[in-house]
Order: sequence, then structure tokens, then C-alpha cells
Amino acid sequence: MTPLSPTDRLPLTCTRQGTCCHGKQVWITPWELSRLAEARGVSARAFRDRWTADGGIRLAFTGGAGWRGLPACSQYAGSTERQLGLAGSTERQLGLAGSAERPLGLERQRDLDSRPLGQANTPVPTPAEQALGAPGLTPTPAPAELALGAPTGGDPTGGAPGCLAHAGRPLACRLYPLGRRRQGTSTVYLHEGRRFPCLDGCPSVVELPHLTVAEYVAQQQVAEGEATQDATLELAQDLAEAAFVLVFDSGLAASRGRKALAPWRTLGDAAIRRAAIGSWMDRLILPDLPAELPGPEFVRRHHGRLQADLQAESSTLPNAESVQTAATRCLAMALHLGQACGADPGDLLRRWSARASALIP
Ligand code: SF4
Ligand code: SF4
Repeated sequence: MTPLSPTDRLPLTCTRQGTCCHGKQVWITPWELSRLAEARGVSARAFRDRWTADGGIRLAFTGGAGWRGLPACSQYAGSTERQLGLAGSTERQLGLAGSAERPLGLERQRDLDSRPLGQANTPVPTPAEQALGAPGLTPTPAPAELALGAPTGGDPTGGAPGCLAHAGRPLACRLYPLGRRRQGTSTVYLHEGRRFPCLDGCPSVVELPHLTVAEYVAQQQVAEGEATQDATLELAQDLAEAAFVLVFDSGLAASRGRKALAPWRTLGDAAIRRAAIGSWMDRLILPDLPAELPGPEFVRRHHGRLQADLQAESSTLPNAESVQTAATRCLAMALHLGQACGADPGDLLRRWSARASALIP
């Protein structure tokens, strides 16, 4: 990582080639999901079902193969195949021919998911370190390409390439190639590695006007997204606290000892996390709030609803087993939301589990 000062001047004017809209992992919070959906003119549920992965917290990269044969973001319009003169060939190689939006096969998904950090992914530190005590370096890449007024309203039928959801693009896309890390009350921006990331895919970026970090961040209008991400992490933290309350204040830890934490250890697996969330997934990811709400207000209301639901449920749990299940679900929800903010759920889990273990003699 290369930490940056606000006055550092870098080649931050985008070439608009869209290379960073390919082969990335872009995590999105529920508010960002609602904004993306609004930008596309569909419901949040429809957007989630059609264009996201991992239970609605990651943009699906199910577009045609483009830069380096990597699949485009599902929101990337325009034929990179035509642009690059690759029509057909790369798509056929990947078995994606015929549908730019068809979900990738599982094998391909696993490839994306298991790509080591620092390769195709661009790590963007999250405020998790500050809010959750997490290490905070997590891949949340995405292009700023379009943030500079580039191909807004890209045309999937073959017009200009660009982001179809430009107006609602998530924080990671606004910031790229920069990332952020909260330190106390301040934010530090940085970029992955020692070499400026855009040089890899867009070497001609050096020929465009250079900007200071402060100028660039101001252009991207990230304040609302950053405040919303921080609020979402606080919500994740509160969900984790709810899991602690269920385990420790219900007598479960006293009666079961460390066995009360055994289900938590299984939550390192994303599929198990999603299964543990179960029927609560919709209220976690689709709070059915107006997308036009300011982000922090959106999260505040979401937070209030979840708290009310959890409280209502906690008074009806009939036995220790149901308390155990509810606690595991709360922790799974916290991890899921933390990951939506770009935090590493494995690291969060290790820290929370260690804290809980320390409370049991
Ligand atoms: S890699 Fe950099 S210059 Fe190239 S499209 Fe992305 S943000 Fe723009
Ligand atoms: S800028 Fe748009 S097309 Fe590119 S990764 Fe972000 S959401 Fe996807």
C-alpha cells in the first residue's frame, strides 16, 4: 500500500478505457444497492437478483470478456469485444458466448473469488479497522473512469461503452484507483502497491492532466458514500453486539460454555453465513427504504428497523436452541454487512470469536 497525502499529485485523470470495470470485486452496501437500482430504473430486489452475487453485496461481473479477457461488470455497457477487435473469441473461451448478463459458471466464479489480493483486485482499505477493530485492508476495486464524466448512460445495444449505473455508482467505483482508511476521525487515502494502479491497464494515463488527491476526491463526490459506509459498519458492529447479548445475557454461555460459540466458527464460509441468515436476508439487504434518502439517514432507518425486529424476536425465543440460532444469525448478518463494506469477514470473525472466547472461563 502507498499512503497518500492530500497534496500528492498523481495521474488521476481517467483515460476512460474502462479497463478497471473488468475482473474486479466491487462490494456494495444495501444503500448502494438501492442507488444502483434507482439508476437502472428497477427495484432493489430486481437489481439484486439480476446483477449481484454473494447475497446482494457484490456486483456480478457477468459482462462480456474485455481487458485481458476478464469479464466486465454487469453494469458495463458497450462492446469491449468490438472495441478491442476480440469479438467472439474470448467469450467463447470462457463459455460466455451469447449473453453478456448471464451469470458466470460456478467454476469461473470460484476463480474470481479466490484470486489473491493484490492481483486483479485493488485493495481499498475500509473503515472497518476503526469501526470494528478489523485490519481493514480489503479488496473493493472499481473504476473511477466514469466518474469524470465519461460514458454515462452507456448503451447495451452497442452504443458508447460506459457505466449504465453511473449516477448510482458505489463508493469503490468513485474512489478507484484510490482506497481509504479511517484513522480515528480522519481518512487517509492510498493506492494499492508501490506502482500507481492505472499504469497497468491504462499506461497513457500519464499523458492526461495530473490531479492532487484532494482535487480528485472532491471531484468524485464521495462524502455521502463514505459517511454511509461508516454508518453501515456501525450497524454491522451493533449486529455483532446483539449476538454477544444473546449468547452472554441469556445464560447460554453459562450453560453451554464454549460450545455456545461452536456455530460461530462455521461462519467463515460465505455459503454457511448466507444459510444462517436465511429468511432475514431480505430485511438485511433490501430494507425497502426510498433510494433518494441521504445515505446516513437510509442506514439510520435500516438500523432502527433491524433493531426493532431483533427485539421483537428476542422476547419470543422459546428455548436455548432458538437463542443459539438467533445469535449465530446475528453474527452472520454482521459479517455479511461488514463484507458489504469491504471488510474481511474472516478477520472480523477471528476477532469477534477471540473476544467472545475470552469472556468464557
Ligand atoms: S484503470 Fe485508471 S485510467 Fe484506466 S479506466 Fe480505470 S480509473 Fe481510468
Ligand atoms: S463504474 Fe459502473 S460498470 Fe464500472 S465497475 Fe463500477 S458499477 Fe460497474
